[in-house]
Amino acid sequence: MEKICVAVRVRPPAPELSPETGSSLWKVEDNRISLHKSLDTPITTASYAFDHVFDESSTNASVYELLTKDIIHAAVEGFNGTAFAYGQTSSGKTFTMTGSETDPGIIRRSVRDVFERIHMISDREFLIRVSYMEIYNEEINDLLAVENQRLQIHEHLERGVFVAGLKEEIVSDAEQILKLIDSGEVNRHFGETNMNVHSSRSHTIFRMVIESRGKDNNSSDAIRVSVLNLVDLAGSERIAKTGAGGVRLTEGKYINKSLMILGNVINKLSDSAKLRAHIPYRDSKLTRILQPALGGNAKTCIICTIAPEEHHIEESKGTLQFASRAKRITNCAQVNEILTDAALLKRQKLEIEELRMKLQGSHAEVLEQEILKLSNQMLKYELECERLKTQLEEERRKQKEQEQCIKEQQMKIENLNNLVTNSDFKRNQSEDFISLRKTPDGRNNINDSSDVPGTPCFKSASRSFVVSRSNNYSGLSDFSPMVNSLGDVADEDTWMKLNKGFVADLDKLQFTPAIKCQFTPAVKCQPTPLTTTTTECSRENYKEVEDLKSQIELLNNEKEGLQVKFNEQVLLNNKLMEEMTELKQETLPIKEIPNKLSKSFANCKDVYKDVIVTMQNLIADKESPTVKLLFGTTEITTSLLSTLEAQFSMIMDGQKTGSSIDHPLSDQWETLRVSLKNTTTSLLSDAQAKDEFLNSHNKGQETGALEEEKLKYELSIIKERCNKVEKELCLDKQLLKASRESHEKLLKEVQLLKEDRDSLDRKLSQSTQRLSVTASDKENVLRDLNVEVKRRKEMEEEIKQISTAFATRHKSIVSFHSEIKSKMQKLTTRNP
Ligand code: ADP
Ligand code: MG
Repeated sequence: MEKICVAVRVRPPAPELSPETGSSLWKVEDNRISLHKSLDTPITTASYAFDHVFDESSTNASVYELLTKDIIHAAVEGFNGTAFAYGQTSSGKTFTMTGSETDPGIIRRSVRDVFERIHMISDREFLIRVSYMEIYNEEINDLLAVENQRLQIHEHLERGVFVAGLKEEIVSDAEQILKLIDSGEVNRHFGETNMNVHSSRSHTIFRMVIESRGKDNNSSDAIRVSVLNLVDLAGSERIAKTGAGGVRLTEGKYINKSLMILGNVINKLSDSAKLRAHIPYRDSKLTRILQPALGGNAKTCIICTIAPEEHHIEESKGTLQFASRAKRITNCAQVNEILTDAALLKRQKLEIEELRMKLQGSHAEVLEQEILKLSNQMLKYELECERLKTQLEEERRKQKEQEQCIKEQQMKIENLNNLVTNSDFKRNQSEDFISLRKTPDGRNNINDSSDVPGTPCFKSASRSFVVSRSNNYSGLSDFSPMVNSLGDVADEDTWMKLNKGFVADLDKLQFTPAIKCQFTPAVKCQPTPLTTTTTECSRENYKEVEDLKSQIELLNNEKEGLQVKFNEQVLLNNKLMEEMTELKQETLPIKEIPNKLSKSFANCKDVYKDVIVTMQNLIADKESPTVKLLFGTTEITTSLLSTLEAQFSMIMDGQKTGSSIDHPLSDQWETLRVSLKNTTTSLLSDAQAKDEFLNSHNKGQETGALEEEKLKYELSIIKERCNKVEKELCLDKQLLKASRESHEKLLKEVQLLKEDRDSLDRKLSQSTQRLSVTASDKENVLRDLNVEVKRRKEMEEEIKQISTAFATRHKSIVSFHSEIKSKMQKLTTRNP
């Protein structure tokens, strides 16, 4: 734990002011500053003491040397470092940070010093990345890539707070950085106010990320990663003094607001630890980015600049108050290392060994230091535990998402199955339906290390570290690396959720940290390889599931299309059925015709027989040739009538069995008609002959005249009936022709329907096949998911084991601690 280093710098009076008004009221003595009248008498007894106070004659060189040099050197060693200038507008902040041609500011001096320092360390290799950004009107803009505007702040479990999408240039020497800074300066927001013709309208942050690793390439060595922030704040301003309006006014409001939040954070942090409540880092982008520098894991120095002029006295006092508050803040800076398990074990072994040795020497002071170290160690464990908890929660969340996804997929498949069952059912129905109507006939090349810029020292050493680490950052783009998966990122909202109200299952484990962490955690961890594999695997599965989902959706759509077509066909079928029934009803009277005809023929036959019998009775001479002729004709007529009757009965039989009448019936009927006509004609002529014969041979027979009249009358009736039958036969012929045509038409329609049904059948079988393929795919995915879930459970088990191991370790440390304490007490009592 160490206090923030705070210095005050008084700018020389502005040259345009008269010597009287410009003479300084601030007196600097050693590291104290106090307010005096022009006659050198103190205005108040109050004087402020700081780590350093630089008077008007001070140079940037001296400020760098006394205030920031140590922080820069520590950054090279692996500590986070921050230096920033605070003060009212035109008090000399930009002058201090950027400097002039003759007297370069802190940023330029730091850059050069970092590389000088690196050259001096021969046993480590380094990788340096730089970025340059500004916060203008509460928006983060990239000064090295103008297109990167309105960037977002994210929190990464390993990297801590970072600006996503910020360009990070890998650099190999100081000159390269200075050129980048110059190019970035062009993009900075400046504006003219009454108080400063070149007033910074934004907060600028120049950032260097220094990574290093031991050159011996020992796998148990950790990688050190430190972040150095050099910040030039925009100055607080009184609108009345700056005369700001329009854009300048808006800018001024944003500047003042963010500086006020910075003040609030400093105030909260400077309260004693007990009073310390919530620190409002999240109220502004500036405090969010400076979070590690303020009460966190960083070595920090603040240069508070004041203007010496009398009319700025109120602002200067405010600045001094800010500085006094800041002086009370304590940070806990430690070397940032990414430790492998092997390195962790090796280190702990060494520490325990060292401790044992020291215990034997029994120096209370040393022991106390060791206890402090152990406490730090425990803090690390706590952080590790927190990280694992978050990771576990993330994994659980993903699992839930996957389960949800599977559920949805299952539901879709079920729906599809239902659809298939429905369509099968309908198809069967339609098959039945149709069969009823059937007639019997029925980027950078990662292996090419020469492409990767590296820090210039140790040229003889292996460059694998620089290559591998720079690939991490430059492999994808030139920009600040985005984390591999969203799961590793805690953005603003996620962070809130992670830190408020979230209780992971691991919390149930009995792990009570001895020391509460009051500052921003320095996260040092080694990512568990299992997790990465699992995340990738689950991502793949997720993708597969997504693919399957879209396939199922496509199938669904196709199925729906088929269903619509099927429904249309069913409607068409129904319509045709109705038409067929109508036609059937129409053909019913046609079917009745042969029946009627048959009846009338039977009547005719009876009448004819009666006539013949009567005639036989009337004729006395049965041997006469006329009688013989009559009998012959009667026989022919009877046989003809029998043939006709047989034909009618055949037609009626055909109708009953439903067989088609394909013999040339109409021709036969024609023959019958002709023979009937002939018979009738012969009968008539016979009758006439008979008449003549009777006239010539039986002229005197008046008794037979009555019977003859009667016979004539009956013959005329027969003639009439014959004509009628002839007419009816003609009508029947026409009706039969019409019914044959409609029958053929119906046959054709049935054929078309059959074809349609077949194509529908084919389509249905295709979709069924596809469905079965999808179902098997789904089964595969489910199997994979099961494997995944199993693996995840194993991982959870492992995490639990680690936690238990931590808990045991923690316990042993606590017991060790108490042992040491008791030993110390004993020692103190022995040697007071
Ligand atoms: P700020 O950034 O605080 O608004 P600047 O750094 O722009 O103020 O300083 C305002 C003016 O004062 C500039 O012209 C700058 O050159 C000058 N100035 C500030 N500090 C010094 C100093 N220590 N020595 C010489 N000139 C200075
Ligand atoms: Mg400035």
